[in-house]
Amino acid sequence: MDTVVTRFAPSPTGHLHIGGIRTALINYIITNQAKIDNPDSKFFLRIEDTDRTRHSEEAVQAIYDGMNWLGLSWDGDAVSQFSRSDRHTEVAEALLEKGMAYKCYCTSEELEAMREKAQKEGLPTFYDRRWRDKDENDAPADVKPVIRIKAPLTGETVIEDKVQGKITIKNEQLDDFIILRSDGTPTYMLAVVVDDNDMGVTHVLRGDDHMNNAFRQKIIIEAMGWDTPIYGHMPMILGPDGS
Ligand code: GLU
Repeated sequence: MDTVVTRFAPSPTGHLHIGGIRTALINYIITNQAKIDNPDSKFFLRIEDTDRTRHSEEAVQAIYDGMNWLGLSWDGDAVSQFSRSDRHTEVAEALLEKGMAYKCYCTSEELEAMREKAQKEGLPTFYDRRWRDKDENDAPADVKPVIRIKAPLTGETVIEDKVQGKITIKNEQLDDFIILRSDGTPTYMLAVVVDDNDMGVTHVLRGDDHMNNAFRQKIIIEAMGWDTPIYGHMPMILGPDGS
């Protein structure tokens, strides 16, 4: 068996919940099974602590305590996503340099108008890509830009998911999403891809609430010329009332 590198990447927003634990357990089992033949396999723990407004050290500690109580040991030190933000910014700038991303200077009023228009017309995405091909010299001096990825406009994206099977979507459903906010902070979509790549993650096994994100994350992966990991999106654990 090839080397398997997995990660469990919880956001420290409260106690570990049953769905998170199931995700951690599956990653742990698959990695430890691979370790029998290939001792270089790794199971990493990454704390996705970029949301500083909701950050709490107790919630981070609750993740360590929960994992330890369950006996789910991880390899090496846990990685703090927040501590890697300079690297995330570096990749956003590399994408700009390659022409795979662009600065967007839309004001919140302009975005609101686009949202309303898209809703009325039933468009799959709302941002009308107005800065995609615009000259930067036209940029208003008083607006701090965000950086958006250039999503493919035509064709299809396919993901061969180990749990969900083969899923194909039309690229027109993908938007030019933000990778770096106007305050210079990276978005989840960028940070996850950069960290998975740098940590050498081979298998992304997580809840299927992230299935849609996989299609977007693949755009960044391909724009950087990185390897796409093997995906497995597991169904959420729901209560009898669907919550
Ligand atoms: N931090 C995300 C969450 O807690 C997981 C991200 C991922 O697995 O890609 O839902």
